[in-house]
Amino acid sequence: MPKKEKLEIEVEVPAKKIHVEHVFCHKGHQLCDPSKKIHGFPAIKLKMRYHGKDGVLFIDPVYGSFDNIEEGVRPPKGGVVELFCPVCGESLKAAGETCQLCSSPMFVCYLPKGGIIEGCSKKGCYYHKVKIVDAEKQVSRLFENDTLQSYL
Ligand SMILES: [Zn+2]
Ligand SMILES: [Zn+2]
Repeated sequence: MPKKEKLEIEVEVPAKKIHVEHVFCHKGHQLCDPSKKIHGFPAIKLKMRYHGKDGVLFIDPVYGSFDNIEEGVRPPKGGVVELFCPVCGESLKAAGETCQLCSSPMFVCYLPKGGIIEGCSKKGCYYHKVKIVDAEKQVSRLFENDTLQSYL
């Protein structure tokens, strides 16, 4: 038996009530860019590749809102993009994860305190989810919005 039990839960996040503030690639690079704001909050800046062309995707940091900004490439609706950390170039593709709605690959970013956020890499598909991995089992407190915000 593992000493520390890990509890992984998927969280239902009420749309548009909270925003992510600290998002990282798996090497720990901060992806939120204070120089680019959407709805007044720093956007999540990712390198985007579509059909061999490179651009930048700024993701709306407000959960449940999708006013993303594209620069450089403009994939058509339904186009599946590849996403990378703009700092280290690491792929953000979630290994083995596919979208429950459209079966496209998912991308993954990391939140402080062990949470992850996954999203579909197909443009126009808004499937995404937040998972909080809490080794200390303080999860029951999560279901209050203000506590959840502290995980983002
Ligand atoms: Zn990185
Ligand atoms: Zn999808």
